Amino acid sequence: MKKKTTLTTKILTGLLLGFIFGLILKSIPDGYIKNTIILDGVLKVLGTGFTSAIKMMVVPLVFVSLVCGTSSMGDINKLGRIGGKTMLFYLGTTAIAIITSLALGILLKPGMGLDMSSMVTGKVAIGESKSIVEIILNIIPSNPIQSLASGEMLQVIFFAVLIGIAMSMIGQKADIVRNIFESLNEICMKMVNIIMLFAPYGVFALVSTTFATTGTEAIFALLKYVGVVLLGMLVHISVVYGGLFKLLTKQSIAPFIKKFTRVAAITFSTASSNASVPASLEIMEELGVGKSTRSFTIPMGATINMDGTAIMQGVAALFIAQIYGIDLGINDMMTIVLTATLASIGTAGVPGVGMIMLSMVLQSVGLPLEGIGLIMGVERIIDMFRTTVNVMGDNVCTLIIAKCENDLDLDQYNSSLEGNLVQ
Ligand code: ASP
Repeated sequence: MKKKTTLTTKILTGLLLGFIFGLILKSIPDGYIKNTIILDGVLKVLGTGFTSAIKMMVVPLVFVSLVCGTSSMGDINKLGRIGGKTMLFYLGTTAIAIITSLALGILLKPGMGLDMSSMVTGKVAIGESKSIVEIILNIIPSNPIQSLASGEMLQVIFFAVLIGIAMSMIGQKADIVRNIFESLNEICMKMVNIIMLFAPYGVFALVSTTFATTGTEAIFALLKYVGVVLLGMLVHISVVYGGLFKLLTKQSIAPFIKKFTRVAAITFSTASSNASVPASLEIMEELGVGKSTRSFTIPMGATINMDGTAIMQGVAALFIAQIYGIDLGINDMMTIVLTATLASIGTAGVPGVGMIMLSMVLQSVGLPLEGIGLIMGVERIIDMFRTTVNVMGDNVCTLIIAKCENDLDLDQYNSSLEGNLVQ
């Protein structure tokens, strides 16, 4: 935990120094040292090197973590009913989250006023418009190895989920492969940790390049980006979580909110859904949720439910499209909704992975990955908020499923508020 705080401080320092250095560079007249040595030399190596390292992890991470996530579902038949409802809630709310964020991004235009179109290297390839049938059919890979090699993410996800389900269905017979995948998963996560150690330098280089070539208008755009993401989260919590909770449980949400502050302290400080699992399980127990429900829905939610992350990805995709002057069509939006929703399954509940998944979302519609450099500067702050929303979704889903399955002790739920007030 101490290490993480240090890394956060370093990233923020990288951001600040990058900002100052970028502005200094901007004020210096063009010349060999500024353009060739600094901008196209050192900063490019650091910035592009970091972005490439992130890209390198996308396919292995999604593939391995998805196989792990789906293969550990246990006896599929037994888990079928709760599993179905849980999946519906998790994926449904994630899809709503991303649609809300796209709507807010279109309406509030966070990237307006900042033009970075000249900074795109090479041609920007926006996905050709495809029919819905083509989009759906395109998810099924005819050659999965080719999909992995070319980074066709929806196909990779489809392939990985099918492997995971098959492994889950044959149970113990898949143990050898399961162990291998679990160990590969650990290795991938460690690699992400190592790459994140370079984040301060990558952020410094990317941010200074941004400010050297665009100037202060980028700050306002960045603030608008943060504002729209936070607004999206607020709308999602109050309308979707608040609304569904009231509608499906007919209970007051107050006892839950009061208990949730304990979990929120953990999500805020660690930016990790996984790290919050013990605390979530604890408050669910205190609120009267039965073991069979909570022990399944909470870990599953920490692995696949990422509504806050989806909101960030929707706003970020539009923000990047806007600053690079790229128009996204309705088919592109649909691809974003589908990719981000499915990507949430493969987003590990640890810090920063949502940002790696963002590169996959951007790739799916051909948006320039260079845009990540700018928003990387506020990444950790957004991560703290989005992880809290991710985990709140897991908890709300657990309470709703428990109520529907008659596995929620209502007396205990309602008295827990009184208990807390008395204490
Ligand atoms: N940090 C997030 C979580 O653990 C994942 C992400 O969006 O990076 O839920």
